Amino acid sequence: MKAAQQLAAETDGTPWHALPANEVERQLKVSADQGLDAAQALERLDACGPNRLPQGKKRGPVARLLGQFNNILIYVLLVSGFIKLMLSLWLDASIIFAVVVLNALLGFVQEGRAEKALDSIRNMLSAHARVLRDGAARLISADDLVPGDIVLLESGDKIPADLRLLEVKNLRTEEAALTGESIPAEKTAATVSANATVGDRANMAFSGTLVVSGRATGVVVATGNHTELGRINQLLGEVTLLETPLLRQIKKFGYTITAVIGVVSVLLFAWGHWLGHMTFVQLFQAIVGIAVSVIPEGLPALITITLAIGVQRMARRNAIIRRLPAVETLGSVSRICSDKTGTLTLMEMMATSAVTADGAYDVTGDGYACEGEVSQDGRPVAGAVPDTLKMMCLVSCLCNDAELFQADGKWKVEGDPTEGALYPFAAKLGMDRGEVAAAAPRVDAIPFESEHKFMATLNRSADGDMLLVKGAPEVILEHCDRQQTSGGAVLIDRGHFAREGERLAARGERVLGLAWLPNPGLAGRPDGLDPRDLPRDLVFLGLVGLMDPPRKEAIEAVRECHDGGIRVTMITGDHKTTAAAVARRLGIGDGRTAVAGVEIEAMNDAALRECVREVDVFARASPEHKLRLVKAIQANGQVVAMTGDGVNDAPALKKADIGVAMGVKGTEVTKEAAGMILADDNFASISAAVKEGRTVYNNIEKAILFMLPTNVAQGAVIASAILFGFALPITAPQVLWVNMITSVALGLVISFEPHESDVMKRPPRAVDRPILNRFGIWRILFVGAALLIYTLLTFFALQTQGASEAMARTAAVNAITLGQVFYLLNSRHLILSSLSTQAHGGNPLLWYGILAVVVLQLLFTYAPPFQAIFSTESLPLSVWARLLAGAVLFFLFVEAEKLVIRSVPAWRNAVMAR
Ligand code: ATP
Repeated sequence: MKAAQQLAAETDGTPWHALPANEVERQLKVSADQGLDAAQALERLDACGPNRLPQGKKRGPVARLLGQFNNILIYVLLVSGFIKLMLSLWLDASIIFAVVVLNALLGFVQEGRAEKALDSIRNMLSAHARVLRDGAARLISADDLVPGDIVLLESGDKIPADLRLLEVKNLRTEEAALTGESIPAEKTAATVSANATVGDRANMAFSGTLVVSGRATGVVVATGNHTELGRINQLLGEVTLLETPLLRQIKKFGYTITAVIGVVSVLLFAWGHWLGHMTFVQLFQAIVGIAVSVIPEGLPALITITLAIGVQRMARRNAIIRRLPAVETLGSVSRICSDKTGTLTLMEMMATSAVTADGAYDVTGDGYACEGEVSQDGRPVAGAVPDTLKMMCLVSCLCNDAELFQADGKWKVEGDPTEGALYPFAAKLGMDRGEVAAAAPRVDAIPFESEHKFMATLNRSADGDMLLVKGAPEVILEHCDRQQTSGGAVLIDRGHFAREGERLAARGERVLGLAWLPNPGLAGRPDGLDPRDLPRDLVFLGLVGLMDPPRKEAIEAVRECHDGGIRVTMITGDHKTTAAAVARRLGIGDGRTAVAGVEIEAMNDAALRECVREVDVFARASPEHKLRLVKAIQANGQVVAMTGDGVNDAPALKKADIGVAMGVKGTEVTKEAAGMILADDNFASISAAVKEGRTVYNNIEKAILFMLPTNVAQGAVIASAILFGFALPITAPQVLWVNMITSVALGLVISFEPHESDVMKRPPRAVDRPILNRFGIWRILFVGAALLIYTLLTFFALQTQGASEAMARTAAVNAITLGQVFYLLNSRHLILSSLSTQAHGGNPLLWYGILAVVVLQLLFTYAPPFQAIFSTESLPLSVWARLLAGAVLFFLFVEAEKLVIRSVPAWRNAVMAR
């Protein structure tokens, strides 16, 4: 511990960029090829603390509570309360203030829950770093990095701490998070001048910046708050604030309601005054009653919590939302563009066939296990493996960066599965990987990138250097002028391999071409090998066909998407024929048509727009093609979700309405650009998220359509009293009571509503659909009117039977609340029938909500303190029977409306088109 603290003190403020690499290692007491040992790392972690980026300033609880009052609707309530105070209407004023405070508390708690939900998701997004510890590379949580750790970087990584680079290969980093400069910076390992500014420190890689290309090794010189980013205290883009287009729309809606209330109040006031039935104060009270009743003060909190619940539900289905608006957009997605490998398929590759100039072979086995055999025309070749096949095994073992390991009794791959599958292929032909690796160590390499579609390594054996290459067959064939045969290298027959490649691809296999070149003369380049260095006189060895079965759940999910009016498009780097064959099995596209990247390039934007209308399978596509495809699809008016994993997919992901990054195989850069991350890389998780997104929107819509009619009905009850000059059926304090019950006990229930059974059978919701469309306005007016009639009838019926005004009012309040309870049962299904027992299952909270209302209404009616506050009177049992009958009638009336809408196709479609 002491040593670590001393080290931290000694090295604080060291200009690392100005020191040579070996001096940096010496000062940090670490060797670049061993890394720290576990004990050192632990000690330093204790001394320096976890490597966490500074937390953004979070609003404290007080600020959050005060924030709840910052809402136009609450202002209206507060003003009403103050005026009531001035008029010495203590009771009314205190009830209004109580409502405001209760509402603020409710919002506060709900927002707290929502933030907690997002926080836990933020944790799921925490980054990892590849480090060298005890001489071995391993993946650790970026939080555990300490000064002196040796970090291995590759393209797509987010740099986890400030690093002094020790070894650099074509490294370029994007430092916009730090310097604002979006053009990637070239990095080197050479010392730079001590007074270089942050942007000029080419041998440093800074925490929070991104590796755009290349690889490097660096030593951690600063972590957490001590990094450059920590110093300038800048936050990285993470899960964003609780602000979405819908919430903004609701805020605007608040202004509209306020304006409407204002105008109606003035008119009613003038009318009431002219009529002369009420005193100034009574009239004023009534008007405030209207204002208060129409204000849906609980709505913003309700929407926030519905969104947050949606985010949690999605996380449970392995879809992690990074940007909250994505939850809403998900409900509108009309096209999903998905990668193939790993998303639609299992990414459990197995070599199933091989082709050389001399023959074709079949490979048997199971996954990555080494058991199985290679045979030609049914005869195993194990005894006499042809030389060309042996050479293919050599390429398979050496031109490979993957690792296989056993977990839970099953072989798994670390790295690229395409490469992982090549080891068992070589093992089945009797090649020992360790032996060949020791006999021909790697000198240099060109890593695989989707852009150039090949990988090459330069290996040094006792017989001299050899260049070993594998990649997409057409790319490799282009670089070959000879082919390997049992009799040696002869002139290449490209046609043969092209035909054989097609044959394998038509079976849905991913095809690799393998080649080599003895003594290529490429060693000793100062900057190492570059993709452009691949010679054009390689010797072609043969083809390997890899099988990657489709995911069963993806087939199911594709069907579900199609039912839900969502088109599924596959964009893959694979060969056209392979893509078409796999798409056919998944039920994507018409099973025949596939368009290749080169064809996309030949199309102008208009042609591409036409093309994406028809075609759902795109092959040999590069990240640029993905970007163009997104644009073309959007230009056709579709809302598109696009998946991606590589660094270069980021622009397409950003451009898409929802960028979906792969959690497992995706790079940090892609994740940063995405709105949603799939924890399991599985296509089925996208469709699950879409389903959740639709339900979130439905629930918000249901909440609005539940809350507003009751508000309207209450306002209308009072307004009609003023208009027609009869005694108020509900007093202002009573209105507030009803309002609170509705939003607290009943409204919240809707946030927890499960999926409707047909949620994935409807077309996607139009993006520009307003929160209140014509149907919504109709529903509010219709239900509002029905509830008004029910309440007024109750009030007048009791009055004509000689009940006191207080009792008639008590009955009216109970009528309106009972009506709401039944309307809640209606509202759970927008237009589907609620007339069955199943229609009321699935949401246990519903019954708690209703129970709460019953208890509260009994207190309101019978408990003396409540009677004192709200001027209520006990009701005889016979009144309850009539109230209940009325409420059931009201319920059936709303069901009749739903039935009519359902049975008129034009209306039904108008409601469903969401
Ligand atoms: P998908 O969209 O299905 O996930 P992809 O975009 O990942 O596919 P790429 O990885 O770009 O596809 O692969 C394109 C082609 O490059 C493959 O068909 C294969 O021929 C070749 N290839 C893939 N991986 C490697 C690798 N590790 N080394 C050499 N060649 C490869």
